[in-house]
Amino acid sequence: MEAQALFCELTAYAATRDWQYIYPVWSRRAQGISIGINLHPNHCCNWHCIYCQVPGLQRGPSPVIAMQILQAELQECLDWITEQSMAHGVDPLSSLIQDIAFAGDGEPTTSPQFPEALKVVNHILKHHQQPVLVRLITNGSQLQYAHVQHAIQCLNAMGGEVWFKLDAGSDAEMHALNDSHVPLALHLQRLQTCCTLCTTWVQTAVVSRQVNQQMITTPSLPGYIKALEAYQGKMAGILLYGISRPSQQAAAVCLQPTSEKVIQGYAGELREHGFNVRAFS
Ligand code: SF4
Repeated sequence: MEAQALFCELTAYAATRDWQYIYPVWSRRAQGISIGINLHPNHCCNWHCIYCQVPGLQRGPSPVIAMQILQAELQECLDWITEQSMAHGVDPLSSLIQDIAFAGDGEPTTSPQFPEALKVVNHILKHHQQPVLVRLITNGSQLQYAHVQHAIQCLNAMGGEVWFKLDAGSDAEMHALNDSHVPLALHLQRLQTCCTLCTTWVQTAVVSRQVNQQMITTPSLPGYIKALEAYQGKMAGILLYGISRPSQQAAAVCLQPTSEKVIQGYAGELREHGFNVRAFS
C-alpha cells in the first residue's frame, strides 16, 4: 500500500470522525503523511504571520485541552493506520507515516498542557512499540521558559526533533512577517537554547510581497546569513519553503507566489555559505 493511497483513505476516514485535536495532513517538508496534533482548535496564536493559513486567526489564551480525548483520538488514528497496513501486508506505522507533529492552529508551546500532551504521545508510541518520529513545529517564542525547555529535552529523549521558525534577517522583517516585536537577537538566543536541547532545524518561509509598489522577497539574505552563521555547527540545517497554500490573513492581498527559481537561488547561496539546506518550492 502506498502512502498516498493510505492518505486518501485516512482523510476520508477522518472526515467521518469528529476529532478535535488530531488531523492527518500530507506534508511537503516531511515528504509524506504527518499526523498533526492541534493544541489550539480555538485558532489562537501569539504571532500573526502574514502567510498564516489558519482561518479566523486571533490572539488569545490557549484553550483547556481535554487530554483524555486527545489521547483517544490519537490512539484511534494510529490503530486505524495499523489495521490498514496489516491488512495490506505493510510494516505498520513507521513505514507509512513520516511523523507525529505538534503544529496546528496556534503555537503549540504556548499551551500549558504541551508537556503533558508530549507525554501522552510518548505513552501511546511505547504501547504501539513503533519508532515514529515526533516533531515540534514551533515559532520558538517560548524557549525562555523552563517547562518548555524541559519538554523539549523529553522530546530529545524520544528521538524527536524541532522545526524552529525564522523568517527574517532583521528586526523589521520579523515585525513585518510575523507581527512579532521580539528583536531578532533575542529570537536567536532562543534558537541557541533549542539547539542545545534537541535536534533543531530552522524552518524559513521565503515570502514575496508587494510593498509600496515594489516586490520584496524575504528574508534578506545578508542579514539572515549573518544571523545564522554562529549556529552552523549547532543546528541540523535549514528547511526553506515557499508558501503553497493561500494565506487566510488580510495581508494575503500583497503576497505573491515565490518562484522555484528564487527559492533555489536562496538555497544555492546558503549552501555556498556552508549551510545544510533542504528546499521545497
Ligand atoms: S506561528 Fe504558525 S500558527 Fe502562529 S501565526 Fe505564524 S504561521 Fe500561524
